[in-house]
Amino acid sequence: ETNVNNIKQEYVKLFQSENKLLPFTWIVVRIDGSHFHRFSEVEGFEKPNDEQALKLMNSCAVSVLEEFNDIVFAYGVSDEYSFVFKRNSQLYQRRASEIVSAVVSFYSSTYVIKWKEFFPRKELKYPPNFDGRAVCYPSYEIIRDYLAWRQVDCHINNQYNTCFWMLVKSGKSTKEAQSLLKGTQTQEKNQMLSQLFGIDYNTLPIIFRNGSSVFWDKVLSLSLSNDYSCRINEMMVTDNGVVAKSQKKVVVEHPNIIADDFWEAHPLILQV
Ligand code: ATP
Ligand code: ATP
Ligand code: MG
Ligand code: MG
Ligand code: MG
Ligand code: MG
Repeated sequence: ETNVNNIKQEYVKLFQSENKLLPFTWIVVRIDGSHFHRFSEVEGFEKPNDEQALKLMNSCAVSVLEEFNDIVFAYGVSDEYSFVFKRNSQLYQRRASEIVSAVVSFYSSTYVIKWKEFFPRKELKYPPNFDGRAVCYPSYEIIRDYLAWRQVDCHINNQYNTCFWMLVKSGKSTKEAQSLLKGTQTQEKNQMLSQLFGIDYNTLPIIFRNGSSVFWDKVLSLSLSNDYSCRINEMMVTDNGVVAKSQKKVVVEHPNIIADDFWEAHPLILQV
């Protein structure tokens, strides 16, 4: 009797704790593959970097930006992606658990749907899953530092992994490779790569060295059609009838995001 009355008053709702993210700060949702060390082994990813796996991660990130309007930038490396929301986002009234779970579940199911596009001959052996967290960054300097931190991490890990797997592929045991690399600095690793294996680290594919950045950009698309249905101020017709149309599109690039150049060239992304 009492219980029923209480339930009518919906007192059970009071047990939900508020988890609102600080207003007017950049929200970063970072997702990370759970147990991807094992997942990558089970699926036979190329080591240290399986390019198709990275491209699948990137493609899922593009879908996330297309789905969540408030995301202005994303940075990915290995099995992780950071999604940056605009400062004034009101998504889920900034409740952390809703935002994080929505991004993580959208990303995970997209990963499953797109898997066969990137690995047509590989079967998914168990459900890939990701964890996620939300962190607020209150100033332009700090969000830039956050992104720089992830790219520095990419450099450090990539360099270590490149050396490690070259040593292992050349016949060293994983233990031997680990102890050879223990305590080495960047320069020593670069020397090891060039002296032992003739590899110039700086010539490795940029997607491995810099990770991937995803954002909305204006792109020109050229066509020969005379489809004038789009807004006239967005297109140009050249002498030979080629139509140049300017559209906004989510792009994947591999810029240095530690230095200022990229951000100066794209001032609107982290518009204050
Ligand atoms: P956790 O569940 O704690 O995140 P984890 O096994 O996923 O554990 P991470 O630190 O996230 O560990 O590292 C991800 C691992 O996934 C890498 O160490 C690497 O072995 C593997 N991996 C991820 N992406 C790739 C890729 N593109 N190519 C090869 N291996 C990859
Ligand atoms: P939100 O994103 O805010 O959750 P929503 O569209 O998911 O929006 P809910 O309040 O969660 O709205 O309601 C779920 C809706 O999904 C139901 O109103 C119903 O229309 C539909 N739905 C869910 N499960 C079923 C089902 N088994 N059969 C038919 N319709 C269903
Ligand atoms: Mg983790
Ligand atoms: Mg992981
Ligand atoms: Mg990781
Ligand atoms: Mg619902």
